[in-house]
Amino acid sequence: MDYVLQNSLREHPALKKLRKRTLQDERYLMMVACEQAQLMANLAKLIKAKNVIEIGVYTGYNTLNMALAIPDDGKIIACDINLEFAKIGMPFWKEAGVEHKIDLQIKPAAETLDELLEAGKAESFDFAFIDADKLNYGVYYEKCLQLIRKGGIIAVDNVLWGGSVLNPGNDPDTLSIVKLNEKIYRDSRVNMNMLTIGDGVTLVFKL
Ligand code: SAH
Ligand code: CA
Repeated sequence: MDYVLQNSLREHPALKKLRKRTLQDERYLMMVACEQAQLMANLAKLIKAKNVIEIGVYTGYNTLNMALAIPDDGKIIACDINLEFAKIGMPFWKEAGVEHKIDLQIKPAAETLDELLEAGKAESFDFAFIDADKLNYGVYYEKCLQLIRKGGIIAVDNVLWGGSVLNPGNDPDTLSIVKLNEKIYRDSRVNMNMLTIGDGVTLVFKL
């Protein structure tokens, strides 16, 4: 893994600083894997993504990563319920000169997604990253599928959940992830890949 990072990680200086700062936070394990963030940024550039939805911001490592990947007039709807986490990242968003692309919405993500749908924004987003509360994963997936355009991408994080998907028991979070994994596998509305990068990420390509 050290070799991979030493020979492939291309991190903007502000992004690197935010990663180091986040590692000082007690919940740093919630931050997305940096090599996964780089893959998502490259996918976003490949499809010329302009409008992005981030569900679960935390300190905004991936929010900043995606903001750096979209054009100057692009927008990220960044959803979280915790402003204190996001405040950790804001100075770095500013330092990178991309804070004008980030529209932070502090309320339950399902509400923000409903507002976007009510505002007629269906099929108008290029990329969505689902990474908030695991119990609502199924809800986020269906709403994102409506909001994303054909040819757009949804990335679903933590699809391996530390390996516990093999043995979910009665854990509600794990059961919710397993249910969505099985649904996406069978979903004829999309092409998909499940990757073992990070804690597992499923890439969904809307047909
Ligand atoms: N994508 C982030 C990590 C997100 S961690 C990164 O790249 O680093 C999960 C986040 O989901 C936490 O910040 C938590 O506050 C947020 N969250 C939990 N429940 C939520 C909800 N109902 N709506 C929106 N965000 C929620
Ligand atoms: Ca995650």
